[in-house]
Amino acid sequence: MSAVSTFNKIDVTCGECGKEFTGILWTAVHAGEDPVLKDILLGGELNILMCPKCSHAAYRDHFVLYQDPAAELIAYIYPPDQASDEEFLQKSMLLAFHEAQTVMEPKARKDYEPILVFGLATFVEMMRVENSRAEQSQIAEAICHEFKIPFVVLRPSKARALTSVRVLPSGTSIKTPTRADVLAGLDRLLAQNSSLDLYAGLRASIQANPQWKLLTT
Ligand SMILES: [Zn+2]
Repeated sequence: MSAVSTFNKIDVTCGECGKEFTGILWTAVHAGEDPVLKDILLGGELNILMCPKCSHAAYRDHFVLYQDPAAELIAYIYPPDQASDEEFLQKSMLLAFHEAQTVMEPKARKDYEPILVFGLATFVEMMRVENSRAEQSQIAEAICHEFKIPFVVLRPSKARALTSVRVLPSGTSIKTPTRADVLAGLDRLLAQNSSLDLYAGLRASIQANPQWKLLTT
């Protein structure tokens, strides 16, 4: 798996005026190396090809590999019409990923798995939701510091798998707080700022689930 962004040059015929031109279609986006490209993707502008003659713009669906090591994120983004092959694609993605890992230097190996997504728009929406979780996590962390509420910080890949905020307040300062600890921490946090709706939602879902357990590995 290459650590750069890559593109294909393709021949395009404008759907509006018939002009033939060469378009650039991105096939891999490395957010760490190319933050501008990341912004273009998250702005929903990636792989929109514009006719040089009449400015007609058309989106071209194509597989995109998205990597953001800082966020522990590798996403295989397929066109939405391939969603019916989900089971097969999930299997082949994991197989290819683990095969590639075995030939890597141990320290270059990833200890998190790639995710499978159908459609760039779906991915953009996922990242938007993740971003709002990150915003509330930052606020929560600041409150925890200010009011001396102990907290644990989940790894990005772990929080994503749990669809959870990363900063979890806790009633104690142990590394793996229990359900009761986290509920106590959430009570203290929400007493300071009741507008943290993602935290209120988390508290409600933990309250509704007596088996809830924080697995940090
Ligand atoms: Zn045109």
